[in-house]
Amino acid sequence: MQPLKYLSGYPEEVQHRVRTLLDQDRLGTILSEKYGEAHAVRNDRQLYEYTVQMKDRYLRKAEPLNKVVYDGKLHVVKHALGTHTTVSRVQGSRLKASREIRIASVFRDAPAEFLKMIVVHELAHLKESDHNKSFYQLCMHMAPDYHQLEFDLRLYLTQLEMGARPQGD
Ligand SMILES: [Zn+2]
Repeated sequence: MQPLKYLSGYPEEVQHRVRTLLDQDRLGTILSEKYGEAHAVRNDRQLYEYTVQMKDRYLRKAEPLNKVVYDGKLHVVKHALGTHTTVSRVQGSRLKASREIRIASVFRDAPAEFLKMIVVHELAHLKESDHNKSFYQLCMHMAPDYHQLEFDLRLYLTQLEMGARPQGD
């Protein structure tokens, strides 16, 4: 039996239910009914604008973002779904911190809610580097249904990897 790598932290009972939906070829349909809305954030410039808008709305006081890009080489599972880095560069005599967010390119074609979820996740890391209680409080400040979105994103990634292609695709 192939492991469900995006759901490895969840109870066996949950994984079993997901396997059943995959076997019955129902997971894709359930997800597309729930998350039918696409987004129009197609390139890095649009992704930067989208992220800065959300930051200005919820985390105005956090340090400014220098760069936000889609990254085709990013493996979603490695660091729970995205990366956030602080690159220090020496500029003249000053050390300037450059905040950078990379979003796995699978999100370019993912439903709108999942892009929102991953951007919320990465923005929360501007203030909290660990996945601790205050980190998740920040996430829920920006997206009240954050936990449901993260779980459903894991289902979506599982479906992408292990599910059958939707008919007519
Ligand atoms: Zn994280």
